[in-house]
Amino acid sequence: MDGKVTIEEHFALPDTLGPGSSELHRRLQDFDGERIELMDKCGIAFAILSLNGPSVQAQTKTAEAIDMAQRANDLLAEEITKRPERLGGFAALPMQEPDAAIRELERAVGELGLLGANVNGFSETNGANSPLYYDQPEYRPFWATVDKLQVPFYLHPRNPFFDQIPSFEGHPWLTYASWAYALETAMHALRLICSGLFDDHPQLQMVLGHLGERIPFDLWRADNCLQRNPKGMPAKRTLRAYMQTNVHVSTSGQFHDPPLHLTIKEMGIKRVLFSIDYPYESMEQGSNWFDEAELSDEERLAIGRTNALSLFRLELK
Ligand code: ZN
Repeated sequence: MDGKVTIEEHFALPDTLGPGSSELHRRLQDFDGERIELMDKCGIAFAILSLNGPSVQAQTKTAEAIDMAQRANDLLAEEITKRPERLGGFAALPMQEPDAAIRELERAVGELGLLGANVNGFSETNGANSPLYYDQPEYRPFWATVDKLQVPFYLHPRNPFFDQIPSFEGHPWLTYASWAYALETAMHALRLICSGLFDDHPQLQMVLGHLGERIPFDLWRADNCLQRNPKGMPAKRTLRAYMQTNVHVSTSGQFHDPPLHLTIKEMGIKRVLFSIDYPYESMEQGSNWFDEAELSDEERLAIGRTNALSLFRLELK
C-alpha cells in the first residue's frame, strides 16, 4: 500500500544513543538519507518521529531533563522544516516537573509545530525509589493543557526498575521489548485510565504502541473482575469504554495478524494505526507484513493512513 503514515519512529541526540550497534546509532541520527529511501521503498508517505527512550525520562536532575527535551525538540523541528511533506514530530517532555512539561509542550506545539507529545514512561527525580507516574494529582494541570491543545499523548515504553521486581532476577531475556516493556507500559496506561483522568477530560487521546501493550487481550477479564469488585476505582466507565474512546494503538513492533484482528475487534477499526518502531524494528518487515495482512481494502486504508490523518488533523497531498 502506498501513502502509509507511521507514528512511532525514532531519532536520537548524540547523548541519548544508548547501547547498540554503530549501525543502529547511525540510523537513529539519520533524517534524510536511508530513512527516506526506506520510506520510499516501503510506501510510507509520512512519518511522525520521536526521541528514543528513556532519554529525558531517565534524567534525575530536572534542569537536565528540561535541557535535553528542548534540544531534542529544536533539532526535530529543524529537520522537519527541511522536508515537511515527509516528516512530522512528537515533543519530548521533562515530566519530572509538571510546570516545565506544560511550558515545553506549549512551546513545541505552538512555536515548533510539533503534533503531540511522546513520553517514555515514568520519570525519575531522586533515583530508583521514586518513579513519577502521571496519574498522580500534581499532573492534572499538565493533562488539562494536553486537552486544551487537542494533541495526542503517546505513552512509549521503558523498562521498569528491575531491582524492585524480584521476578526478573536472573532472567535478562525477559527485560526490554520481549516482555518488560509491555508489562510496565500497560500498568502505567491502566493507572491513568483507572484514575478517572478520562472522565475529567473526555476528549483526551492517549496512544499506545505495540497493539496496546497487551491490554486488548485482557480487556474482558479486567472489566469482568472490576464490575464484580471495583475496589474503590475512581474511573466511572468500563476499561473497554475508555479504550474505545480515549485510546489509539499502533502496530509498532507487532507484525502479526492474530493480535491485529483481536485489537480491531476489541477497540474498533478507527482506533488502530500502522507503525514500525524504526530503527529498532525493520521498516521492510513491518511494511511487507501490513501490505499483505488479512484486511479489507477499506480497513487497510484506515489503519495505514486515514486514522492517522484524522487523529493528527493532517492534510497530506
Ligand atoms: Zn518505540
